[in-house]
Amino acid sequence: MGLELTTTRIEDAANWARKFSFFSYPFVTACCGMEYMSVTSPKYDIARFGAEFPRFSPRQSDLMMVVGTITERQGPVLKRIYDQMAEPKWALAFGVCASTGGFYQNYSTMPGADQVIPIDVYVPGCPPRPEQVLDAIILLQNRVQEARGHSQVRDKRAKLAAESG
Ligand code: SF4
Repeated sequence: MGLELTTTRIEDAANWARKFSFFSYPFVTACCGMEYMSVTSPKYDIARFGAEFPRFSPRQSDLMMVVGTITERQGPVLKRIYDQMAEPKWALAFGVCASTGGFYQNYSTMPGADQVIPIDVYVPGCPPRPEQVLDAIILLQNRVQEARGHSQVRDKRAKLAAESG
């Protein structure tokens, strides 16, 4: 029996753990909510990706799922909740309304949640299929592992700026 050794960097190990333990905060405002329920049902088994536990407190969440249309009046609320989430954190726009405002071209609808918070992954569709959402989770996992999420890049830049004085 030989001795097996694995080496890695602390950051890579932490990112590996993070990508398999998303705690999502579902910010559900509209009809995409039905599809969100499908995604979290046993049929699609989101637990395979370690993302099965929604948290209804932003302080215990690290993945904001913006599910549905965001109005201009909801924008500041979305931002406040996102700001209260644990770091590092990620955000997923679930459906075309959360991504771009969808077919609502009016004064009250925000043209995408990225007007107020940084979005890491956009999922198209009205509503998106659960498989698309799972695909987006896998995409996000890769991004987290490579430290390419918005909050990770921001932290890296802040560290570099502090080191360079
Ligand atoms: S993308 Fe379609 S299903 Fe989702 S909230 Fe907008 S209108 Fe509703």
